[in-house]
Amino acid sequence: MSNQEALLEINSLHTGFEIEGKTYHAVKDVSFDVKPKEVVCVVGESGCGKSVMSLSIMNLLPKHNGKIDKGEILYKGRNLVNLNDKEMNKIRGKDISMIFQEPMTALNPVLTIGFQMDEVLINHTSMKREEIRKKSISLLKQVGISRGEQIVHEYPHQLSGGMRQRVMIAMAIACQPQLLIADEPTTALDVTVQAQILELITKIQDEVGMAVLLITHDLGVVAEMADRVVVMYAGQVVEESDVDRIFYDAQHPYTKALLTSIPRMEEEREVLNTISGIVPSLKNMPKVGCRFVDRCPDAMPECSKVDPQLGETEKGHSVRCLLYDASHPGKKTEVR
Ligand code: SF4
Repeated sequence: MSNQEALLEINSLHTGFEIEGKTYHAVKDVSFDVKPKEVVCVVGESGCGKSVMSLSIMNLLPKHNGKIDKGEILYKGRNLVNLNDKEMNKIRGKDISMIFQEPMTALNPVLTIGFQMDEVLINHTSMKREEIRKKSISLLKQVGISRGEQIVHEYPHQLSGGMRQRVMIAMAIACQPQLLIADEPTTALDVTVQAQILELITKIQDEVGMAVLLITHDLGVVAEMADRVVVMYAGQVVEESDVDRIFYDAQHPYTKALLTSIPRMEEEREVLNTISGIVPSLKNMPKVGCRFVDRCPDAMPECSKVDPQLGETEKGHSVRCLLYDASHPGKKTEVR
């Protein structure tokens, strides 16, 4: 059912990769939405399907073996899954923009910064040529690059990682998109530069009035930025709620484990908790039952036999775990 309030609505998304003649799902039955001007953080370890999910939204999956084989991605009610490349190109960069972990993968090393920035405006606006260069320089100023007049003549390799990420953000906001997808935008940067880039995204979000879908494995970033949090594990959403409830009333054993593995100011711990084991690989995903079962401290025998479903435990708080499934005999926690 379409959610009228949502800017982006993902319904039962299944994204698969064909490996040796078989399809393996890196994203399986993922649903959530992003409302206008909201910051939604998608969190989870590497290999949880976060990036595949964001590439699915942008229609940037590897063509040779990746494909969405079920589900909907509704942007303002329009299903992006059904669009061809030409139609998607009109939306990408204009309505929905994306910034990546390593801007060098998105910037062309043999073209100047100015050329690449101008391209975005040429492709998506009716601005005159002479206005375009001025606009590119003013966008660089907006992201804190004061010597934009010089930078437009430089090549990506002449800039630091932080500067390149600022350029990517300038390109991403050139057409005032309504949704910015940021996939681990600070992971490749020094800690001090990370803080500056996050601050910049918040400032721009405020100025442009856009929604942000932020993909991260860093719960510190989540605490800083998120309105709402989607926790993913092994290609599925395992918990979703507003940021306060995720930090103060987490319910899924995986979310709880993630939270105990971050340092806290008020606790004197010399060694941080870790989550034993690893996320199962695509080929080794359990065929039935909970995908977290091998690492879960609360696992029960039935967890390997029954697929837990994502269900609301209270308004605005959903969890995929048999402990919270009222219809399940193994349930041990009261549903509120
Ligand atoms: Fe743990 Fe079972 Fe809940 Fe999975 S369903 S998270 S194994 S208690």
